[in-house]
Order: sequence, then structure tokens, then C-alpha cells
Amino acid sequence: MKIFNNTHKFIILVIFFCILQHFIVQGIRDKQVKLNKNEFSHLQNIVNELPPEETNHDNKESRFLQADQIRIQFDISFIQASTSFATSLISQLTNLFETVSLFYQNLISVKVPISGSIQIPSTMTNCNNYIFSATQKVQSYKNTDLLIFVDYQLNSTFIDDFSAVSYICDTDSTNRVIISYLSLTFKSISESLSDYQFSQLQKQVIHEIMHSLAMNSQLINYFRDSTNNLYDAHVINITNQTLSYPNTLNWAQKYYNCSSLTQIPIEIDSLGNIHWNRVILLDDIMSGLYIYGEGLWSGINNAILQDSGWYNVNPLQYDSQIKWGQNKQCQFVQQGCIGTGYFQEFCNTLNNYGLTFSQNAMGICQQFYQTNSQQYNKAPSNYLQCLFMQPVQNQNCLDPGNQNLFSNQYLVSNFSYSFGYQSRAFESSLTPFTLKSVTSFACYNAVCLQNSSLIYITIGSYSFYCDTASQNISQQTPFDMQGSLVCPSNIADFCQSPGPCQSFCASAGYCLNKKCTCIAGYNGEGCQCIQGYNYYEGQCRQCNQTCKTCSAIDSSQCQTCIDGYYLLNGQCLQCGPLCLTCSASAPSQCTSCEQGFFLESTTNTCQRCSSNCVNCTSLSNCTACQDGYGLSSTNQCTIICMYNCQKCYQDAFTCQQCYQNKVFNSTSGVCECPSAQYEDQFGNCQNCKINCLKCSSIRNCFECEDGYKLLPYSQTCTDNNFSYFLSFLFLNIILFIIFV
Ligand SMILES: [Zn+2]
Repeated sequence: MKIFNNTHKFIILVIFFCILQHFIVQGIRDKQVKLNKNEFSHLQNIVNELPPEETNHDNKESRFLQADQIRIQFDISFIQASTSFATSLISQLTNLFETVSLFYQNLISVKVPISGSIQIPSTMTNCNNYIFSATQKVQSYKNTDLLIFVDYQLNSTFIDDFSAVSYICDTDSTNRVIISYLSLTFKSISESLSDYQFSQLQKQVIHEIMHSLAMNSQLINYFRDSTNNLYDAHVINITNQTLSYPNTLNWAQKYYNCSSLTQIPIEIDSLGNIHWNRVILLDDIMSGLYIYGEGLWSGINNAILQDSGWYNVNPLQYDSQIKWGQNKQCQFVQQGCIGTGYFQEFCNTLNNYGLTFSQNAMGICQQFYQTNSQQYNKAPSNYLQCLFMQPVQNQNCLDPGNQNLFSNQYLVSNFSYSFGYQSRAFESSLTPFTLKSVTSFACYNAVCLQNSSLIYITIGSYSFYCDTASQNISQQTPFDMQGSLVCPSNIADFCQSPGPCQSFCASAGYCLNKKCTCIAGYNGEGCQCIQGYNYYEGQCRQCNQTCKTCSAIDSSQCQTCIDGYYLLNGQCLQCGPLCLTCSASAPSQCTSCEQGFFLESTTNTCQRCSSNCVNCTSLSNCTACQDGYGLSSTNQCTIICMYNCQKCYQDAFTCQQCYQNKVFNSTSGVCECPSAQYEDQFGNCQNCKINCLKCSSIRNCFECEDGYKLLPYSQTCTDNNFSYFLSFLFLNIILFIIFV
């Protein structure tokens, strides 16, 4: 009697094979752990005893726990991988993003910093047009509070050299943005940017980051007050485009000198990005028309960052002395140009030429809101008819590039026009005697006296000065020009205008209140020099070797010293042995020690810490161990951490930080490569095959991403059901032939 016919055999074989496969896969997984069951349960207990990893809860306690300088990281791998960019431009862009990170790092602290790392959520494949690469999807971005992915496109029809736009990708549980996307558009890609272009692109990037930090309608409803409660709904009115968060309102009341101000007009664009109203704050970096203003960082941005509840702001250092509308009282801020006062911010006759408000460029009188533009219909009616001096393209005195681009090169060469960071715009009809007067405005080099009472103006090889408002100057020294120059109507305002920094910080820093802050490795008033050099009379001169920084005028006069040296009368002299720092009064006595040494308090000398210890307060109290060693309960580095663990605590298995980009798997208790990666023979993490979630080598995949199935023979992942079916059918037919 036949119990099974062939069909039955076939079904049994299929079931048998499936069970077999399950065990094979399970076996591979267990092998990965490389621990027996006892070891595993021991680790499991340790892991269970660990304090829970800090997570961000949206509750009252956690929001105001800590304060740390914000860490902004830019992922520019897309740009780095592009063949369109010259190496010089890539390194310049790298510096640019570093200056922006430094700017915000010096400006704000995050109340709840990211304690671990940022990862792209597994369900997220793209953010707007940015498609994350396989590497990015599994990468752990460490030491970051805000991660920004950057890409670019070309648009040859663009009027401007470049522009930037940003999108929010992900937020933490307090709704603070932790991932965003920045897209740059270039008209064309050149070998490198000029220092002026660098400073302009930098402003655009700072502007876009601000949309991710706070100024976006998606974020504004999650702002919390100083008691960590959500604000009343009336502080933001999206329809009327106004807001009245307390610090922001307070700033505006003081700035405009208008205590009855209750609502600040804003502009919200189609992406939900919030800007300050252009009519009342054009020169701010966050104004709705900031590309036509000076792009200055004013205190209102500090105020709204503070109002968000996510950040603490360093306000004093960052209140740029913006002039637009300052102290112009309620009639300026509430009525704009229809107020009864005369405001230099506005002009009267459409299409007339004149100087811009900051007197940095020649302008043409234009409407703030182009009729039928998106913002025209939303703007307060009082502002609609207001006109301002819009800088004319290539007629900005600050841009050295305009020396060649200025529309009338005849004026540049014959009328001594000059462009650059020291140049300003003047009302002038000065004309060489041999030529006919054709001009009414000009760009000349201008430098103010420290007390803002006098302006020196250089025209060709001649010098003029202005010390009286609106004075008409025709001849002060023997001069071969006819016509006259009109001094500014307010000499002090002209001089105190927060203009650009020396050399626009030479593509190595950011400018605030005419002062450069350089990124690491750069030095000098305009960041033109590398560290150990200072800038004087157009060149970087090496400081005395033991100086960290030195006087610009005399490079042998140190201002600060390198480690191990102290400053005495402008000279850096060596401290006692092993000192990191010492005081000039007793140089043989250390005040701090090099790494791996501690200050012995009775003798003020530096003694070596115990073995494998990199930081200690005494021989018996180590506070940090060398990589791969852990601190014992007696504060000695006697514990050797388990495989792949960089920092462990109290025992070998309590791993606080794994090497490289490996992650601690709390289930298996080991440091391993993140998902979709495997560890190669050199201990480095490499990517698995495409769509494979777990693998032991590039060939051996044993688990696929959701929606994909593992093909048994090729060990590749497919989402094609037919090829999966075919593969099984093929395998089972083989087995059938063998067994039957
Ligand atoms: Zn914007």
C-alpha cells in the first residue's frame, strides 16, 4: 500500500526544506554572536542593570536639563562625489560650512542635546529631492545636534550667482529639528568663490539654517515658554502674518522705541519659512527680501531663538548694530512709509537712482512688494506703496568683482571708482577736467576716524575728508577734477553702519560687528593667515616660534603662547618640565599639566598618572582611560574592554562606546557593525549587498530588508515574487529528483 503518492512527497519535501532553511539561517545568526548561552545570559543581566540610555522626552524636566553649544554637522558627500567641483571649490565649501557651524556654535546652546548619535529613520528614503544613499541610511552621525544634507544643482538662467533653500526632514521628541536638507543652486561652477561671494553664500546658508532652528511655521507651534509650557495660540497669527513671542516683542519695542507695539509683522513663504517683514527690517539676514538688504544678524534673531525654548542664546556678543528703522518709533513700524516722519529707509519716486540706505551701493527706487507677487496680497496695506533703494546689479561698492563688472567701465578707469570692503557709495559729480560730467553717484574708498566724526575719502591719488553733514566738497587739495561730492547727511550713522569685515574674513571666518571670527587654523584680523602668523601691511608674517598669536605690527611680540610657554613682556618663555601652563610670576611651578599627568599640589609639579590612564587628579584617582581600557571601581585603568569596545566602565562588557562606527547591540551584548553592514577581516564595517539587512560577508546575506525575500542559491534579496518562486521551484525539483 502506498501511503504517499508523488504529490504528497513533493509537498513534504517543500515543508522539510523550508524548516531546514529556517535552521540554517538561525545557525548563521547564532554564529554571529560568538557567545555561549551562559555568557549571553551574563551579558543580558549586565545590560539590564545599566541605567537606561538618556532619551529625549517631551516633559518639563528634560527640556531644561543641560546646556551645550550646538553642534551642526553638514553631510556634503553629494558635493564631494561630484566631478563638477574643483578640489579648491570643495575645500572652500568645506570651510564655508565650518564657519556656519562655528557661528551657531558660538551663538546658541541646545537645552536638550543629542546624547547618542543621529540616524536617518529607517522608514525615510528621501527628504524632498534628496535621496539618501545606502551608506547614509546606516550611518551614525555622532556629536551632532543638527544634521544637514547638502546637494546642489546648476541653473544657467539664474540672475544671481547662487541661492539656497532648505527643508525640514526630521525632528526629535521635543519637535526640535535634527535633520534637514539644504539645496544650493549655482548659476555656474567656477574654480573657486571670491571672498565676497563666499561671504554672500555664507549669509544664505546661515539664513537657511535659521529656518531649521526656529523660523518655520511647522516649528512655531511647538515653541515653549520659560516654564516649558506651550504659548497661547494668539502669539502667532499665520493668517495676519504677525507674531508676539515675549523676547521677540520686547526686542522690537526697544529697537523701534515703540512700547505700544503688540504684534510684529512677519512674512511666511510657500514653504512655510518665516521671515521678518521686509519694510520694517530689510537689512536683517532673516528679512523677506534679505538679498536686497545688508544681510546683518540683529538681536531679533537671538530673541526668537530664545523664545523657541529649544536654545539658550548668547545675546550680548551677537547684537549686531543694525540701523534699519532703529529708534524710528511706532509710526515707522506701524505705518511704514505713510507715516508723517521722513525716513531715509524709503525713497519717493519710482525708478529714480540714489544711494542705498546703508550707502554701500547705488540703487534704483523700487517697490518692496512687486504687484501680483505672492507676498503682495498678504502684506499689511500700509506697506504696499512703500519704495526703497534696491541695489543695482554690479553697482555694489563692496564687491571687488565689480571693478571689472561695473556696467560703465569708462567711469571705473577715468573717474577713479574703487570697489572692495572699504568702498562706500557717495553722491558725487566729480569729473576729470578733460571729460564731460556724466555721473551723479560713485564708489570710493572711505575710512572713518575711530570716533565716527570724520570720513577720509580716497579718489585716485587724492584724499578728501567729510566732517560736516551734507557738506558740498569741490576742492580741498590741488585736484584735477571738477564737480563736487556731497558728504553723508549723518556722518556718525555713516561711520557706525555695521559694514563688512576686512577682506570679508578671507573665506575662513564669519563677520559680526565688523569683527572676524576665524575657524581653527586661521588667524589675523581678516583671517588671512594661518595660525602662528599675523597680518600686517598686506602680508602674513610669521610670529616668533613660541607665539600662538602675535602683534600685527611687530611679529616678535607675542600675544598668546603655545602650550608649555608663558607670556612675559611680549615674549613666550618655557615653563617648568611637563607643565601645560604656568604663571609668569613662578614659571617653574605648573598651573596645569600635559595629558597623562596630574598637578601634585604640594610641589606644583606634574606627575605621571597610573598606567593606561590619560586623565587623572592624583595617582590613585584616574578619570579617563586610554582607548580599550575601562575604569575599575577603584578608579584605575585595569579593565581591558571586550572586542571592538573603545570605552568600557567597571567591567569589560559594559561598553559605553564602540570603535569606529560600530554600535553596541544590547541584545547580543557586543559591539558590531550597524545593520546592512558586516565586519571584514580587518575589523572594518563594509556594506552588505543591496537590500540586504544582515550579512556575514558581501556574498552571504541571511536577512533582507522589509518587502524583500532571500533567494536561496544566490543569497541575494529580491522584491520580485516570480523570481523568488522560480528559485524555490528549481531547488525543490532538484531535491525531488534526488529523493524520488
Ligand atoms: Zn528664507
